[in-house]
Amino acid sequence: METRKIPNVLTIAGVDPSGGAGVLADVKVISAVGCFATSVIAALTAQNTRAVTGIYPVSADFVHQQLKTLFDDVQIDAIKIGMLGDKEVMKTVAEFLQLQKAQRIVLDTVMVAKSGDRLMPDDAVEVFCQTLLPLAHVITPNIPEAEVLLGRKIETEDDLSVAARDLSAMTQGRAAVYMKGGHLDGSTCRDFFFDGQTMQVLESSRTYTKNTHGTGCSLSSAIAAYWAKLGDLNKAVFASKRYITQAIAQADMLNVGTGHGPIHHFGEVWAYGLT
Ligand code: PLP
Repeated sequence: METRKIPNVLTIAGVDPSGGAGVLADVKVISAVGCFATSVIAALTAQNTRAVTGIYPVSADFVHQQLKTLFDDVQIDAIKIGMLGDKEVMKTVAEFLQLQKAQRIVLDTVMVAKSGDRLMPDDAVEVFCQTLLPLAHVITPNIPEAEVLLGRKIETEDDLSVAARDLSAMTQGRAAVYMKGGHLDGSTCRDFFFDGQTMQVLESSRTYTKNTHGTGCSLSSAIAAYWAKLGDLNKAVFASKRYITQAIAQADMLNVGTGHGPIHHFGEVWAYGLT
């Protein structure tokens, strides 16, 4: 009998030394979900739970070398793309993944950190739309990011649902859209998932906590990892919503920094007594 192998999931993203967002968060999520995590570092940040104090780019050439060396040896079953830093890195990543005909690409439309600091330069938004959006199989915008991409305000749940359809149309229907509703008020958090044909609503009750740093990074990684593991995108988004909801619900168990702390990526895993 053939043994089913553990899938390999790649995160291409930036490093947040405080461990709540970026590559470190992605690796924790991918591991918690039960896949093997690999990473290509696209940018470094100096960051804590209160602010991003600096961004140090990685050259496009070296990002390419990391990708090429990894893909030469390792089969990648799903990819999460996060903060890429600058235009040149975006173009390089897009070109490489296109040549590889990479599958299961989940693109987090990272633009601004919870602290308010910019993670995507203004002049890179157009390149992002031209190079990475057409490549993605799923995009995961929050409300401020969807507002930038669509150039209009999103204020209600109806707006969220229309935004999910319109963003999918922006990719000629190629990408599914997981439109996050967490920025709206209310005791229920509703997200909208449009796969190009069907709209689904994913609901959870809201946990009132300031510790939500890295939720976007974590959700997109969870979708990539569950997709690789379950082989079905629809199942993956529901599993990911459940995963993020419990990680936020347990965030206050951690004691990391004085600003927006991280969510508890291993809350559920550790609860089963594995440590
Ligand atoms: N830092 C890095 C390296 C990131 O990739 C991201 C998000 O993708 C963030 C910070 C922002 O995280 P948050 O908006 O949750 O603070």
